[in-house]
Amino acid sequence: MRVGAGQALVGERPQRPLLDYAAMLAAFSRPLPAEGAPAPEVIEELVRQANPGLHACTGPRFFGWVIGGSHPAGVAADWLTAAWGQNAANHQAAPAAAAAEAVAGAWLLELLGLPPESSIGFTTGATVANMTCLAAARGEVLRRVGHDVEADGLFGAPPVTVLVGEEAHTTVFAALQMLGLGRRRVRTVETDGQGRILPDRFARALEGVAGPVIAILQAGQINSGDFDPFEALVPLARAAGAWIHVDGAFGLWAAAAPSRRHLCRGVELADSWATDGHKWLQTPYDCGYAIVRDEAAHRRAMTIEASYLPDAAAGERNPSAYVPELSRRARGFATLAMIRHLGRSGIARMIERHCDVAALIAGRLAGKDGIEVANEVVLNQVLVRFGDDALTRAVIAAVQADGICFAGGALWRGRQVMRVSVASWGTDASEAERAVQAILRAWRRVRAGAVPA
Ligand SMILES: *Cc1c(COP(=O)(O)O)cnc(C)c1O
Repeated sequence: MRVGAGQALVGERPQRPLLDYAAMLAAFSRPLPAEGAPAPEVIEELVRQANPGLHACTGPRFFGWVIGGSHPAGVAADWLTAAWGQNAANHQAAPAAAAAEAVAGAWLLELLGLPPESSIGFTTGATVANMTCLAAARGEVLRRVGHDVEADGLFGAPPVTVLVGEEAHTTVFAALQMLGLGRRRVRTVETDGQGRILPDRFARALEGVAGPVIAILQAGQINSGDFDPFEALVPLARAAGAWIHVDGAFGLWAAAAPSRRHLCRGVELADSWATDGHKWLQTPYDCGYAIVRDEAAHRRAMTIEASYLPDAAAGERNPSAYVPELSRRARGFATLAMIRHLGRSGIARMIERHCDVAALIAGRLAGKDGIEVANEVVLNQVLVRFGDDALTRAVIAAVQADGICFAGGALWRGRQVMRVSVASWGTDASEAERAVQAILRAWRRVRAGAVPA
C-alpha cells in the first residue's frame, strides 16, 4: 500500500468543496425510494453525488478549524471496525474491541504523561469527552458534601462554583449546559493576550468561594494554540478543594513531543482531561478520549446497569462504563492502529513538524507588506491579520476561492484574523510554502483592488 497516494490526489483537487450545501441538498433530494436498488449501484451513485460536496480535509494544505488528516492506517482499521460490526459496549459482546481499548488507553496515558491509574472513555470527540469528565467532576464534588447527584439529580444540591477562562472552547460551555451547571452562571476568569488564564485573576475568583468547586483549564486555545499556566493555577485550585478539568482537545498532544512538552508542565496534576484522536493522532472521525484520574468517579457518572448486561470482574473492562453510550463503534481499533503505526517517536516527530511548519508560515508572512501575525506561535496555530478587518476577510475569501490551500477566519480578541491550523499528517514545509505563496498572492490581489474588500 502506498500510504501517500490518496493524499497526493486530495492535495491536487481544489482545497474547498466545489458545490455548497444547497447544491448538495438538491443532488441528494429524491422522493423516498419505493423500491430498493442493487448495493453496488447505490454506492456508485453515492460517490458521484457526494464527491463535489467533499472538502479536502485530508489534504496537506487544509488549515481550517482544527482537523486531523484521517491517516490511511486509521482509516483501514476503521473500515474493519465497521465491517466487523462489533458493538463495543461490553467485553462479552466484543472481547477484541474491549481489549483493544484497554491497551490503546494505557498507551495514551503513557504518551500524554498522565497518571497511569486514570480510566479512559472512548467518545465521539472532545465535546462528549468534556461532558463525560465534567459529569464525573460534578458527581464527585457533590458526593464530598453528601449529595448523590447520579441518584437524586441536582434537585436540592448545594450550588457548584465553576471557574473557566474567558477564552475557553465553546464546547466546554455546551457541556456545562447539558449537565445542569449552566453556561451563564460560571465565573469567567480574565486571560492574557494569548488567551491564558491570569493566575492573579484566578486567585481572586477563588476568594471566598465555599462549597463544591470545579475549575476548567485549557491545553491548546482553539485560536492561539496556547496553554493555561497549570503550575501556577493547579495549587490555587487545589487549595480551594476544586476538581480540576483540562480541555486539551489537541493541545494535550504537546506532551507527546519533547520540544513542546514544557507547554503542558503541571497538566498531569489535574483530575480529568478531554482530548481527541481525530485531531492530532489522525484517526478518522469520530474519536475522542475522556480521561479521569478517579476511576470510581468516572464510572459512577456513566453507570449503565441491567441484568442482561455483563458485569466487569477484576481485570475486565466494559467500555460502556466510561462513556454516555451503550452501543457504539469500536473506536479502540483505529486508535491502536495509529499509535502502533507511528510509534512514540513518529507521533513526536509529526507534532514537532506541525509546530515547525506553523512557525515557518508565521515567519514567512509576518511583516510582509503589512501582514501581522496576531499570536505568539507556540504550537500549531497561526493567526494572521491583513491590514484591517475588511481586508482580512477579503483575503480569506480570495484564498478560499483560489483553492490552493484552505484557511478560515475568526474573531480574536475582537479583531478579524485568518486562522491557519497545522494538523494534517501530510503537511510539511514544502506544502506550507505552496500555501504561503497562495496567501501572499491573494493579499497582493486584494491590495491591488482586484478583489473587493
Ligand atoms: C475541537 C475542540 C473541542 C471539541 O472537540 P470535538 O472533537 O469537535 O468534539 C473542544 N475543545 C477544543 C480546545 C477543541 O479544539
